[in-house]
Amino acid sequence: MNELNSLRSAVRGRILLPGDPGFDSARRPWNLAVEQPVAAVVEAADADDVATLVRHARTAGLGIATQPNGHGATGHTDGTVLLRTRRLDSLHIDPTTRRARIGAGVASGRLQAAAAPHGLTGLPGSSPIVSVTGVALGGGLSWFGRKHGWVADNVTALDIIDADGHPRHITAGTDPDLFWALRGGGGDFAIVTALELALHPAPHLYGGRMLWTAEHAPDVMDAYRQITATATDELTLWLDLLHFPGSDPMVAIDATYLGDEDEARDLLRPLDRLPAPLSDGRATMTVAELGTITAEPTDPGPGSSRAELLTALDDTTVKTLLADPIAPLLSAQIRHLGGAFTHPSDSPHGPLTEPYALYLFGVPTDPAVAAAIATKQRELADALPVSGRKPLTFLNPGETAADAFTPAALERLRAIKRHHDPHDIFRSNFPIGR
Ligand SMILES: Cc1cc2nc3c(=O)[nH]c(=O)nc-3n(C[C@H](O)[C@H](O)[C@H](O)COP(=O)(O)OP(=O)(O)OC[C@H]3O[C@@H](n4cnc5c(N)ncnc54)[C@H](O)[C@@H]3O)c2cc1C
Repeated sequence: MNELNSLRSAVRGRILLPGDPGFDSARRPWNLAVEQPVAAVVEAADADDVATLVRHARTAGLGIATQPNGHGATGHTDGTVLLRTRRLDSLHIDPTTRRARIGAGVASGRLQAAAAPHGLTGLPGSSPIVSVTGVALGGGLSWFGRKHGWVADNVTALDIIDADGHPRHITAGTDPDLFWALRGGGGDFAIVTALELALHPAPHLYGGRMLWTAEHAPDVMDAYRQITATATDELTLWLDLLHFPGSDPMVAIDATYLGDEDEARDLLRPLDRLPAPLSDGRATMTVAELGTITAEPTDPGPGSSRAELLTALDDTTVKTLLADPIAPLLSAQIRHLGGAFTHPSDSPHGPLTEPYALYLFGVPTDPAVAAAIATKQRELADALPVSGRKPLTFLNPGETAADAFTPAALERLRAIKRHHDPHDIFRSNFPIGR
């Protein structure tokens, strides 16, 4: 603790120790179902603070869990210092080279808002409030992954603090192993203070959510399968079975198209032959507005999720999915993958060849509901054609990095961990093991 006390005068950011006012709220992750015990919280003001913290933690024999927000928190944080990176918020866009250079705390929505006026886009997922770094270091499934692959594959350089507390600028050329590991293997190998990313042209974007009552789910699913069977890589469709408290079960189609409205409407024509929707939010939009499509919660709350990669969405799969109401789940989301996800990827995940991802989500309001949610998730996963592996960013607290990677990739990640962090200072939400 002396080392941590001495940190107070050594860094410019805020340090909270147990007993300090605000300690409990500072250590709390976004997912309130996860309890997160930590020795201290450090809100770094800059990269120098991060370097100082690494040197102190090493001397004190403590680990560091780096979390911008803790959307993926698992609670494996005993004996660690929780590093918050939100103040590392620099953001620079070079429209000529189509590159962004951002601090490690920048949220996805902020990058999108800065890229949009240049007719460019990053690779955002469904939520604008998750950090670009957290998503990219876990591989990252974006709305535009069918066109541009894993988010991680679009990272071109990283500024890091290594396990000796030294700042370094790394690329595939300077540090091939470490760069490979960080682009999808999580934050077990270094602390990232800034990233450089490729941006992509997005002069036109069309998208939005259509919503029907659940009685139309079979027809909506038919149209979804028909469109996704031949979709171009610019078109991405997700299907959601939804059951929110106090409302009737519903089914939604969420769509984005990297192109203009006429082309999109043409590709989405099977949806126009369906019964009239309750609402149709499709419109020309900017890439800064993507978060409005699924309108996911932006305040912390308890959540319980399970993701699977589906090897097929055939008649039997659909029959199983639609056989019973999804309750006690709130949502069962199917994401269309394919396209550039299947291309060669020099990253720990490698190519993502499963055609669809499934994300099952519930809110564990009490232990009985939590148990019922877990049972429902397990029953569906057991009954559906799943490949068994999962994207790192979609793991839940009960799963491990071994659920995301092939044995060969995991062994390479562990060798890189032993070499670059022999004292196990860096502790990601899903430790890679040793
Ligand atoms: C509402 C919601 C929607 C989501 N949608 C998507 C989606 O569409 N696609 C997708 O792929 N994922 C999605 N996710 C999952 C999300 O990518 C993960 O939760 C991820 O962990 C990012 O969250 P975060 O920014 O809070 O990172 P945290 O959970 O705080 O951190 C995640 C991990 O990233 C690493 N890390 C973060 N910053 C650093 C750093 N500076 N240095 C070293 N390591 C670091 C650490 O290993 C840490 O354990 C979603 C999550 C939520 C809650």
